[in-house]
Amino acid sequence: MTIPASGLPQGLQIDTLAVREGLPATPWGENSEALFLTSSFCHPNAATAAARFSGEEEGFVYSRFSNPTVMMMERRLAALEGTEACIATSSGMAAILLLLMGLLKSGDHVVCSRSVFGSTIKLLQAEFGKFGVSSSFVSQTDLGEWRAALRPETRLLLAESPTNPLTEVCDIAALAELAHGHGALLAVDNCFATPALQRPAAFGADLIIHSGTKYLDGQGRVLAGALCGSKALIDKVLTPVLRSAGMSLSPFNAWVVLKGLETLSIRMQAQCARALELARWLEAQPQVSRVHYPGLPSHPQHELALRQMGGQGGAVIAFELAAGQGAVAQRSAAFACIDATRLMSITANLGDTKTTITHPASTSHGRLTEEQRQAAGISQGLIRIAVGLEDARDLQADLARMLAAV
Ligand SMILES: *Cc1c(COP(=O)(O)O)cnc(C)c1O
Repeated sequence: MTIPASGLPQGLQIDTLAVREGLPATPWGENSEALFLTSSFCHPNAATAAARFSGEEEGFVYSRFSNPTVMMMERRLAALEGTEACIATSSGMAAILLLLMGLLKSGDHVVCSRSVFGSTIKLLQAEFGKFGVSSSFVSQTDLGEWRAALRPETRLLLAESPTNPLTEVCDIAALAELAHGHGALLAVDNCFATPALQRPAAFGADLIIHSGTKYLDGQGRVLAGALCGSKALIDKVLTPVLRSAGMSLSPFNAWVVLKGLETLSIRMQAQCARALELARWLEAQPQVSRVHYPGLPSHPQHELALRQMGGQGGAVIAFELAAGQGAVAQRSAAFACIDATRLMSITANLGDTKTTITHPASTSHGRLTEEQRQAAGISQGLIRIAVGLEDARDLQADLARMLAAV
């Protein structure tokens, strides 16, 4: 047996692939993709089982590393990112774990943006540091710092764009050139932009990281993750690690993400449009001292962001309140603002159709010292909203109510 291609015509547009790419339907002709809730697959005879286990023959074997529903999600996401292959994992952090396990060995060095997801920094420093992998953390936006951090043993550059919560944007093409000139690889966490806005492979990134938990699912239901890249990296380097280490995505969660991908593009367009409207409005409010949003001309990497992100700014906004002198007063102003919401969900997740609101300094960045937070630009007066699909007029009225409570 060989596992067939989807049978679609060549050269289809991305929105079509988002709905159609996957595997052919089963003989029953289901229109919605089937959910294969099975841990293992049966073989016609022992010789076939042996051939499939050894990889001599294609075929589904065991859902730790092969399942049709998971494969449909992988093929669809690879098509959206414009990469040859994709491997799904149980969460975004599992994807980053798989990436680091697959690419690095003791003695290797990683250069990583200081502004990446907090657990990514912890995983590199605390866990991989323990196994003899060293890491340098550099400014997200200063290419000179990245270049200066390179060492002969640097194997990987790791960036995220835009970042959480300050929406800092890095120049992916410049980082790819730097990595490749040094014989290293570039991995980009594309969680905030998603392939609906930004395709890092087109700018030279070797591996794209996803937390499917966010916009790919899009409705806050399941944990999921994935890595996209060349067949050589995914099939030869990463799949054997996943097979041994087992950070596998469950077929059910893969099915939820697979169906989420169908609406990713229209959700992102709608959520970005609402976010831009709210960011503009927030910037004009006297209670707000600063708005961080790549779609605003006031954003330091506004032009680069629009160029890399298909003219869109994303759906995450961070803003700073003008009220309060000192950390204690700023925090109480931020808490008063957040507590006055009648519509938004006070939760750290993002990428949901429901708008979420958080206070980064006491949640996602709560484990840092006050000095580390200051260095990272996360003040006590900073609030992050991840804009969902509610009507922008209702969200604006909610924000007005919240600012009035400060
Ligand atoms: C949430 C997130 C992750 C981790 O994903 P999980 O699915 O929660 O493990 C990684 N990177 C970014 C940018 C994230 O926002």
